Amino acid sequence: MAILPIRTFGDPVLRTPATPVATIDDAVRKLVEDMIETMYDAPGVGLAAPQIGVSRRVAVFDAQDGLGPRVMINPELVETAESWEFEEGCLSVPGHFWTISRPGFARVRALDLDGNIVEYAGDELLGRVLQHELDHLDGILLLDRLPRRTRRQALAQLRDEALGLVVEE
Ligand code: ZN
Repeated sequence: MAILPIRTFGDPVLRTPATPVATIDDAVRKLVEDMIETMYDAPGVGLAAPQIGVSRRVAVFDAQDGLGPRVMINPELVETAESWEFEEGCLSVPGHFWTISRPGFARVRALDLDGNIVEYAGDELLGRVLQHELDHLDGILLLDRLPRRTRRQALAQLRDEALGLVVEE
């Protein structure tokens, strides 16, 4: 297993829709192992393959529900419900949190490492992580889920940080 560097905001791979996995082979199994180790090392509750520079539809998560790390290959969002505000962060936009409103409940259908169809469904943290990681596979970042005005301020702040105009607290 290996801990891989996490790509951050500004890296084009984070804006590229990822391609589906055609065959679950040793390379995919190794990718998943590395992603799980990288997620726990960060530490984070979810990680999508583009975040380590691999543009494939693979994500891992641990919703801190005692079930351990889980894998989603070629996941699809099949159901959402309700609405929930939650202070959300992203390993690719480190040091920032924004209150983001998304559906509270989410149901995702995916393949596991054995190629079986699995479903993950839940609300609160699990529902949030599922939606956040699926967004990564479509090249969408949490910034895109902010209201327009907040998003503009956030982008200006990130740009200033990149230019070294502000010191991170
Ligand atoms: Zn993220």
